[in-house]
Amino acid sequence: MGRRHVKEYRPDEALSLISADREGKPLRCPSCGSDAVARLPARNPAEGPQGRIQLTCGACTRLVAYIDRAVQTAGMR
Ligand SMILES: [Zn+2]
Repeated sequence: MGRRHVKEYRPDEALSLISADREGKPLRCPSCGSDAVARLPARNPAEGPQGRIQLTCGACTRLVAYIDRAVQTAGMR
């Protein structure tokens, strides 16, 4: 089978997808416009920051991963 080529978002696309996820907005692929974006792990507001988040578009298979830090948790207002 060989190595799987992983398609990644361009930096500006990745950024807009990540910020949508951070703000709790519906996820839409910035590359192909599909709303079939899968999030791993699934959103769980009760748990707070979840560490490594991976977002994958089911249509064009692009993906981006980022680290969810405790940026907007208690004590920051
Ligand atoms: Zn896509």
